[in-house]
Amino acid sequence: MQIDPQAKFGTRECPGCAVEVPANENRCPICGYAFPGRGPLQRNLAWIVALLLALLLIPLLLALR
Ligand SMILES: [Zn+2]
Repeated sequence: MQIDPQAKFGTRECPGCAVEVPANENRCPICGYAFPGRGPLQRNLAWIVALLLALLLIPLLLALR
């Protein structure tokens, strides 16, 4: 997974026109570039990863008791 260093500061650089775009904007207001990473697929992937981690951690926690 790619970490966007601009996300922390509330803006990110548009790869299309190199303009700082607010992080809450999914689309660049200048050139219309659609940012990946905030779509429903990425949200679902985050859930799948969290579920897999839980499935891995629950047996570990049960074994430790
Ligand atoms: Zn742009």
